[in-house]
Amino acid sequence: MIYMDNSATSPIKEEVLNEMLPYLKEEFGNPSTLYTLGRNAKKGLDQARANVADLINADSKEIVFTSGGTESDNWAIKGIAIKLRDEGKHIITTEIEHPAVKNTCEYLENFGFETTYLPVQENGIISIEDLKNAIREDTILISVMHANNEIGTIQPIEEIGKIAKENDIIFHCDAVQSIGKIPVDVKAANIDLLSMSSHKIYGPKGVGALFIRKGLRLDPYIHGGGQEGGKRSGTENVAGIIGFGKAAEIAKRDLEVNTEKLTAIRDALIEKILDRIPESYLNGDPDTRLPNNVNVRFAAIEGESMILRLDAKGINGATGSACSSKSLSPSYVLSALGLADADIHGSLRLSLGTENSLEDVDTVVDTLEEIVATLRTMSPIWDNEKNASIAFDESSFTSH
Ligand SMILES: *Cc1c(COP(=O)(O)O)cnc(C)c1O
Repeated sequence: MIYMDNSATSPIKEEVLNEMLPYLKEEFGNPSTLYTLGRNAKKGLDQARANVADLINADSKEIVFTSGGTESDNWAIKGIAIKLRDEGKHIITTEIEHPAVKNTCEYLENFGFETTYLPVQENGIISIEDLKNAIREDTILISVMHANNEIGTIQPIEEIGKIAKENDIIFHCDAVQSIGKIPVDVKAANIDLLSMSSHKIYGPKGVGALFIRKGLRLDPYIHGGGQEGGKRSGTENVAGIIGFGKAAEIAKRDLEVNTEKLTAIRDALIEKILDRIPESYLNGDPDTRLPNNVNVRFAAIEGESMILRLDAKGINGATGSACSSKSLSPSYVLSALGLADADIHGSLRLSLGTENSLEDVDTVVDTLEEIVATLRTMSPIWDNEKNASIAFDESSFTSH
């Protein structure tokens, strides 16, 4: 099996699992209790907090554990909306945010908040001029993701942070896809709030964190017994947090090696796909993109059929985003790039992980080439006659 859907989720690393296991067995204490068993759990949480802080150049005190990226996004945005509702009700975000941000902004519109959704350029990156022009007297929050989950493009967060600071506006950044893959520095980018998730960096699911800059007071989103320094109630997901901490430590330790390795695989995949498959194109920016993201589109292809046929050959990828790939509505992210619905449906995201190797490239491209050719022979919109010589050969057809 070749797993290339790491932006949907990534497998737990052995080192991470080994770190978690004791906390699911003998070290089962509640970190809020005073005796040794509880203190051991508390110690584990402290270490995890330090590791997560370290990954983004923050202080341990600025990290609050949550149930994942979605909760962190909701807390950051709704928290600022409630806190600053008397100062203004305008939020600036982009057209390509994850649903956890997009749907939260849309929800707030029911309560009198107004959102400006910045468009992106053809390469998936916002224009700084657009951002400057969108700022109003009553703007209370700028929420722009670091790297996009579908097309991997990276936003200029240092510039955005500078503009937010100059205008005295809170800057929230969804960094779920970027932490551990490219350097993230909350200080350099003047970030006030930053969302993270464990399961996209080889940690367990159902755990994440929100970075809250020192000095910024955010009311709790989950009220209760006052865990996490009173900021996020509920008995901590101890084993999950320990796993997240270990995953963060490993991600930081291996960042350079992984970047080099994944970039080589990414570029080889893109080059071979575009070279060997007729009418295939890259979505997003060729350079300003995550080292592990490939997103390509094929003319006259139904994404779902492609995914199922790849699966039958042991290869996992995604069409559209994972969250909406079960529905047939075209991805709004790809739509924001200006792509037509047919091209969106013919798009494929391959998100690489550290388990992938350069040897996978030929297997994937060979398989893909065959599948695309086969699907096109069945496509009413593909001009089979005109393209017969380049896209179709007998052998690939009879093999199915
Ligand atoms: C996966 C993802 C989320 C949601 O994180 P969960 O931990 O799955 O809730 C938010 N934003 C982005 C960009 C993501 O890729």
